[in-house]
Amino acid sequence: MTTFWSTEPEFHGIYEEFSSGRARVRTLNELRDLIEDSVYWVEGRIVDVDSTKSFCFLSCRICGKQIEDVDGMKRCFQCAEYTFKYIFRYNVEVIVADDTGSSTFVLQNKACEKLIGKPVADVIAQYGDTARTMPQSIKENFLGQKGLFEVVVSSEQTHLQFFNVSRLTVDKEIKEL
Ligand SMILES: [Zn+2]
Repeated sequence: MTTFWSTEPEFHGIYEEFSSGRARVRTLNELRDLIEDSVYWVEGRIVDVDSTKSFCFLSCRICGKQIEDVDGMKRCFQCAEYTFKYIFRYNVEVIVADDTGSSTFVLQNKACEKLIGKPVADVIAQYGDTARTMPQSIKENFLGQKGLFEVVVSSEQTHLQFFNVSRLTVDKEIKEL
C-alpha cells in the first residue's frame, strides 16, 4: 500500500466516532436482526471476492446510478435523460466473515480505491473497462484484508442479502483507534 491512511480527513472522522464512543459496532450475526435504521461498524475479514463480474460500472455523474446503453446512446434512468455526464466507479462484491458468520458486502468507489491503492481510471487504463472478470492482481488487494466496515442498515433493506459499505478502515488504522 502506498498511502498513510491516517492522514486522510475521513480517518479523522472515524477516529472521532470511536474515541467518543459514538461508533456502534455489531457482529455479522447481530446485523441481521437489527431493525433500527442506522449505520453500524462490523469488524471482519474479506474471505472471498466475486471476480466473475467487472470491478467497475459506468455511472451517472449527477446521481451515481448505473448508465444504460440505449440504441448506442448513454442514458440514466434515474435522471431519465440521455447524457454525456458519466464516469466509471468501482463496485466490488466481497464476502466478509467474522466469528459469528459471513455476509456479502458491496464495496463502493472510495472503499475500493483505498484497498487497491489507485483510482479506477488507472486500473481501466491498465486492463480496459470492458474486463468482464476481475484481474487476479486486483482481486489480491481485497483477499484477506481485515478491517472495520461501516454498513448501512435500513428496514426497507432487510430482505436484501447484502449490505452496502459506506466507509472502511483497514487493520493498520484500527490499531490507532
Ligand atoms: Zn443520473
